[in-house]
Amino acid sequence: MLDHATSYLECELAGSMDVGTHTIFPGRVVDAEVVGDARPMTYEYYHRIKGGKSPKTAPTYAWTGRDEKKPEKEGKTMASYRCIICGYVYDPAEGDSASGIAPGTAFEDLPDSWVCPVCGAAKTEFEKA
Ligand code: FE
Repeated sequence: MLDHATSYLECELAGSMDVGTHTIFPGRVVDAEVVGDARPMTYEYYHRIKGGKSPKTAPTYAWTGRDEKKPEKEGKTMASYRCIICGYVYDPAEGDSASGIAPGTAFEDLPDSWVCPVCGAAKTEFEKA
């Protein structure tokens, strides 16, 4: 019974990985369905509406100084871009150290092979935040 869900994924256990602090159980999706039309409470909603914060070192950290002027570099707007899959926001002022992207790197200058550090989505799955 899925009274308060907007969708579900049914997965078949594909193994387990001990990653030190916890165990990851990857699953092979065998079924999925959207079962409601309510707006899901996403992590992005938690940050934007509930005022939730992430530490600066977290992959989900989002620059929140929206009233401050963003830095510009070589005529580029240095705009932030949001992953439309998971809500992660790429902030050019922060870069993506886990992927070797230096602070001050415009989204447009990210290599085409760069992917969302949270969900692995391609660069084409991002929109201006
Ligand atoms: Fe993502």
